[in-house]
Amino acid sequence: MNCSVCGAPAQMEVRRRNRAFCAEHYREWFVSETRRNLKRHRMIRKEDRVLVAVSGGKDSLVLWDTLTRLGHAATGLHIQLGIGDYSRRALEATRAFAAERGLELIVVDVRESFGLTVPQLAQATGRAACSGCGLSKRYLMNRVAEEEGFNVVATGHNLDDEAATLLGNVSHWQLDALVRQGPMLEGREGLARRIKPLYSFTEREVAAYAFLAGIEYQHEECPHAEGAKSLLYKDVLNRLETRMPGTKQVFLEQYLKKVQPVLREGLEEGEVELRRCERCGSVTTGAVCAHCKLWDRAYARAKKRRLLPEEASFDPRPRVHHLEPANEA
Ligand code: SF4
Ligand code: ZN
Ligand code: ZN
Repeated sequence: MNCSVCGAPAQMEVRRRNRAFCAEHYREWFVSETRRNLKRHRMIRKEDRVLVAVSGGKDSLVLWDTLTRLGHAATGLHIQLGIGDYSRRALEATRAFAAERGLELIVVDVRESFGLTVPQLAQATGRAACSGCGLSKRYLMNRVAEEEGFNVVATGHNLDDEAATLLGNVSHWQLDALVRQGPMLEGREGLARRIKPLYSFTEREVAAYAFLAGIEYQHEECPHAEGAKSLLYKDVLNRLETRMPGTKQVFLEQYLKKVQPVLREGLEEGEVELRRCERCGSVTTGAVCAHCKLWDRAYARAKKRRLLPEEASFDPRPRVHHLEPANEA
């Protein structure tokens, strides 16, 4: 098979598009498709300040790489979760990437900020690690963005992630989540715009870009990912994709195009009124936000289990560290 652009031997086939590319033209195609996604949804506008959430895995580093190549000066935000060696290696990969390219990086450690690591939080609440972790990550992305003057938060979700989320939401008819799902969620006062510029690429396509662009990322998965429902949904979709290439893309894109607008029209009864959380000042719908409620509950139980001293009290302010590129070289 040959490159559809220059005719040289192809290194990557994009079956759902019936195209193949050599290394150079694959990288070019990937970056120009990302540009198209950004434009199509007006994800980044003039004067925007972009914070990109970077875990150290392939998706987030590829996103940071492509945004930088497209001329968007995005600052990285890495959240240290405290999941043993996995988290240590995630930080190493992220720091190395930022240092090599002279990019600004912000690091927030969940334990330093809130008193418990993600596994300790799970132990204290008796809930799966992913539920507290997901909530804290979403909270921190928005909170750090607001405090540090960023109005856009970019995440590396790919087509596999988005199609799996869609399948999960459809399986349970989670209408609120279905209405909000998409490559871009517009911001409001106190809420950063959320964008997913890689939403149209499969996981395989993102991995191929990382490889062909020489990006060194953390390959190991979080130990808590095993058994996550999202992997089951991904597996189902991968099986469909093997038999019918393009299924994931059609599933997601046609949902966004044909179904979501109808759902939105049917459900929209004016915007939900937002207020500031009494504990932390973040934007929320109730008196106290879900994040403060979770951590207050965790503190009460952690004290009983002697994970925290009796006098400890939850302080919702994140401790933010700026790692300047110069310090990292
Ligand atoms: Fe957090 Fe779960 Fe993802 Fe691990 S797999 S990083 S615990 S959300
Ligand atoms: Zn070529
Ligand atoms: Zn709060």
